[in-house]
Amino acid sequence: MITFANKKYFKDINMKNQDENLLADIVSLAKRRGFIFPGSEIYGGLAGAFDYGPIGTILKQNIKNSWWQKFVATRQDLYGLDTAILMNEKVWQASGHVLGFNDPLVECKKCHHRFRADQVAGKKCPDCGGELSAPKQFNMMFQTAVGPVAETGNTTYLRPETAQGMFVNFKNILDTMHPKLPFGLAQIGKAFRNEITPKDFLFRSREFEQMEIEYFIKETDWPKQFDYWKDEMLEWMEEIGLDMTKVFEEEVPPEKLAHYSKKTLDFVFDFPFGREELYGLAYRGDFDLKNHAKASGENLEYLDSETNERFYPHTIEPTFGVDRTFLALLASAYSVDDLGGEKRIFLKFKPALAPVKAAVFPLLRNKPELVKKAEAVFHDLKVFNPYMVFDDNGNIGKRYRRQDEIGTPFCVTIDFDTLKDDTVTVRHRDSGQQERIAIKKLAGFLQEKL
Ligand code: ATP
Repeated sequence: MITFANKKYFKDINMKNQDENLLADIVSLAKRRGFIFPGSEIYGGLAGAFDYGPIGTILKQNIKNSWWQKFVATRQDLYGLDTAILMNEKVWQASGHVLGFNDPLVECKKCHHRFRADQVAGKKCPDCGGELSAPKQFNMMFQTAVGPVAETGNTTYLRPETAQGMFVNFKNILDTMHPKLPFGLAQIGKAFRNEITPKDFLFRSREFEQMEIEYFIKETDWPKQFDYWKDEMLEWMEEIGLDMTKVFEEEVPPEKLAHYSKKTLDFVFDFPFGREELYGLAYRGDFDLKNHAKASGENLEYLDSETNERFYPHTIEPTFGVDRTFLALLASAYSVDDLGGEKRIFLKFKPALAPVKAAVFPLLRNKPELVKKAEAVFHDLKVFNPYMVFDDNGNIGKRYRRQDEIGTPFCVTIDFDTLKDDTVTVRHRDSGQQERIAIKKLAGFLQEKL
């Protein structure tokens, strides 16, 4: 979804829950525990680029798996795709990106609304009368050249959204899958935007991932389908454990809508730096299919086999940022309490999303019989679920702290009683409480909770 004039819209909204310290704490924990590293760090970094560490990679994968499970795998009417990042430049001409991202834009110094320089008469902002900046090239697409020689005809771009890969495959899907309306296409993949000011950690980066759906419908169904997808999006947010008291719906006012959209809803989240867009839901009409049909010369109409009518389906687009989800999840899960008289930090992930499901410890690392038993328990659990860790480093308190900080819901300790009665201590992350469980019941216990 291209949002030009409405980009700064949410800056006007009363910001709640600003907590710059919380952001600093999250960034620090993310680095310390292997969630997120600054991109190219040993060379001083690269603004707007981040690397996911071993723990972050699993969390990110869990987010994407959960999304795919809900919106693609368990549905009959959604088809998954994985389209190329590099596309013919004509795609971006037809979609409006070449024009939209390359024109000189001016920005109001007061309300921060942006306009195409050639569409504003005078030097005053049409919205608030504020002073406009000098025109700048706001080229958000990363341009590159295909092949060894840079000459006209081989320009292309790193895609700024995954959506177009789905629209240009519409005919392929009709021809191969023979779907009936309504049906949708979905994909997860990288997108690149040369953001003028990347900021707020993962929130605004230059390389990020999107999870997008293009849902094709009959025009008359759009209000019903719009509401349906709104509910589906909210349901998923709750399912993954976002703090729903921080999620709000904001309808983009009609005068700020992109020209092709009849309705756009933004889901905003109270991030530690303020209330900002998390996801979008847009009714795009038949803008994309019509434009690609016109530009490519291909017939992209749908044939209704019952009525024999040919028409361009309309599209509802739910769009999700993976990295913003990741950040919102960290912000939702980040917790501090007092446990046993000591301050502790823990991430309250839902067990299904937690990168590590359980950690297994021998009480003492210098007692071979405990270590051997703990290794056996660990290997058995790993067969049941691979996301288990073994840790014999440092004292038990330190090990708990490490697991709390990556959000591991259960820690299993093998002690001297284990050698006598084959039971272990299971410690619950959120309460810190412990219970004794027979080893043979351990996998069943975890299965119930995960
Ligand atoms: P914004 O107004 O914040 O720039 P947008 O309206 O341009 O966002 P869309 O074009 O709707 O964003 O992109 C779909 C989703 O992709 C967004 O809801 C967001 O989750 C994610 N996204 C967009 N830009 C970025 C970025 N620079 N960094 C990380 N995620 C992004």
